[in-house]
Amino acid sequence: MKHINIPPDNHYRVLGGQGWIGLINRMGSEVTIVNAARVSFGKMKENFDSKDYELLKYLIENKHSSTMEHVIFTFSVHCPLFVRGQWHRHRTWSYNEISRRYTEVDMEFYTPPKIRVQAENDRQASLNAADFDDARFREEISAHNKKSLELYKLLIAGGVCREQARGVLPQNMMVTFWGTVNLSNLLHFLELRDSAHAQWEIREYAAAIKKLILPLFPNLVKILGWKKAE
Ligand SMILES: Cc1cc2nc3c(=O)[nH]c(=O)nc-3n(C[C@H](O)[C@H](O)[C@H](O)COP(=O)(O)OP(=O)(O)OC[C@H]3O[C@@H](n4cnc5c(N)ncnc54)[C@H](O)[C@@H]3O)c2cc1C
Repeated sequence: MKHINIPPDNHYRVLGGQGWIGLINRMGSEVTIVNAARVSFGKMKENFDSKDYELLKYLIENKHSSTMEHVIFTFSVHCPLFVRGQWHRHRTWSYNEISRRYTEVDMEFYTPPKIRVQAENDRQASLNAADFDDARFREEISAHNKKSLELYKLLIAGGVCREQARGVLPQNMMVTFWGTVNLSNLLHFLELRDSAHAQWEIREYAAAIKKLILPLFPNLVKILGWKKAE
């Protein structure tokens, strides 16, 4: 049996290599979307051709979102707890997550690869500052992560149950979850999370999702004007 903390073959690493997101399942393709629109006329095609491009463009531009609900993705996501908290606000996804009530193995903690400073005029924004003592604070965060794990292990060794001991683990703890979503709701997620308003950490995952989708939905990507993945 494979451990869920091992990234699937089709994945991208994010957060300086500490996190990853992989596509583990997909149902439907670009032809599914145009065929869903043709259901109204009782027709369907086997393959996507050049004429379908205009139909797909029309459906996207006019927000015929139900045609995109027949395309489904399942992602496996390895991210810090605070990113998971933001992600799970998206109620149109279905989730399953590794539980610290059941397992205490493979615990990892996120240390930001670059520390940002608080933006003065916007409480939810942060900035990269050139003259900031980045190394010192990265070390402090890493030491705190380690200390939390030591306390957790001490509690477990002393007989404290996992479901209470996990309370001392920080927001930087890495978790792994599966998230399943249809294409319409995924586009909404990407609009909100691959945005300058979203936190850098979750934007990394949103950008990686675009990279995973790009080779599978080239016409959709072109219509949406996504930049080509580097
Ligand atoms: C930059 C940013 C900052 C944020 N800051 C905060 C914050 O400070 N505090 C905070 O609490 N949240 C915050 N959020 C979370 C935000 O309010 C949303 O909960 C989150 O983005 C999910 O969006 P959603 O509800 O549109 O997505 P989904 O839950 O995926 O829903 C998609 C769409 O389905 C419909 N829908 C789903 N469920 C319902 C329902 N029960 N009733 C009616 N319509 C529904 C809505 O049209 C919704 O837009 C922030 C989000 C972003 C992107």
